[in-house]
Amino acid sequence: MSKRIIAALCLLCLLLSGCGKETGPASGTFFAMNTVINLTIYPTKNGATPEEVLTEAETLLGTLEKNLSVTDPEAPLSAVNRDGWGTVPIETGEVAAEALRLCDWTGGALDVTLYPVSLAWGFTTENHRVPPREELDALLEHVDYRRAAVAFLPEEQTAEISLPDGMEMDLGAVAKGYAGNRLRALLLERMGEDLHALLDLGGNVVALGGRPDGDPWRVGIRDPENTDGLLGVLGAYDAAVITSGGYERYFEENGVRYWHILDPATGEPARSGLKSVTVVGSPADGMTCDALSTALFVMGLEKAAEFWRDNTGFELILVSDDGGVTITEGLRDSFSLSSGHGEATVLERQ
Ligand code: ADP
Ligand code: MG
Repeated sequence: MSKRIIAALCLLCLLLSGCGKETGPASGTFFAMNTVINLTIYPTKNGATPEEVLTEAETLLGTLEKNLSVTDPEAPLSAVNRDGWGTVPIETGEVAAEALRLCDWTGGALDVTLYPVSLAWGFTTENHRVPPREELDALLEHVDYRRAAVAFLPEEQTAEISLPDGMEMDLGAVAKGYAGNRLRALLLERMGEDLHALLDLGGNVVALGGRPDGDPWRVGIRDPENTDGLLGVLGAYDAAVITSGGYERYFEENGVRYWHILDPATGEPARSGLKSVTVVGSPADGMTCDALSTALFVMGLEKAAEFWRDNTGFELILVSDDGGVTITEGLRDSFSLSSGHGEATVLERQ
């Protein structure tokens, strides 16, 4: 073989291996915020490597866990819940203030002060029980997001949260959505704009860009009836796809299923006629989508449809108790139902 051919072969090998490096994704699985988190990140032309960013993502998740947890007795929110008042990192204050705004926007279907009720059902401790009506009524006296207050001390990079007697705050309905926003910001900052990544935070999916071949990411929506199966697949390009379902965390007693999404009006698991709600929105707005998935689950089909018509910036996939699927018109071309689920009803803005 001539030197030239050998040189050409070497160059080819180098190019091929170089290509391999540039196009192969890196994946990481972490357990944080009470859920399994899977991140798949493709390299970009100018930026940190996916491996570097995965390490940074793990550190970030650790900080977020601390700043947003209510179950860790050492976490700042736990102190607030114990004492009714406390100084917290500014991030905790910002998430709390934004969560209170979202409670207001959803007319109280989302209420981040439901925590004592959630505790009574044992959803965070796994000591599941059905609390008697009188107990729920007494606890509901302390539930009202309008009475919680957040004040900022920007110079100290802290905030103060104050709660009236007996009130406790839980950011669980928005924490994973917020974490998705932060992970996205980290990737944008460290890897540049041309991102191809899929961030899956226990059912909260954030698609950044599309797949490297240009197709949208294919996000499976779980079938609430048969959680090993898929209800359908959504083609997602730069989108947050966030689902709340009664099947995610629940227990059964005397043949009745009790799940972790509670109706602030009754203190009981929300039985609104919906089995799951998926909210599709901007990837920068995962926290809003997360809040909405919980709130619209509480509202039920009719009120959720009305809420969607009155607002913009998100689309919905709603599964009713009878298995019927309703989607909003913006998903008509990107969502396909699995066989056996019939046809989806499409909501239009009119
Ligand atoms: P998941 O965390 O399973 O994805 P959600 O995003 O719907 O589900 O959040 C549910 C969590 O939010 C519950 O575990 C509880 O801590 C809290 N929660 C339940 N119901 C409400 C509600 N109506 N408003 C605010 N928070 C709620
Ligand atoms: Mg939620």
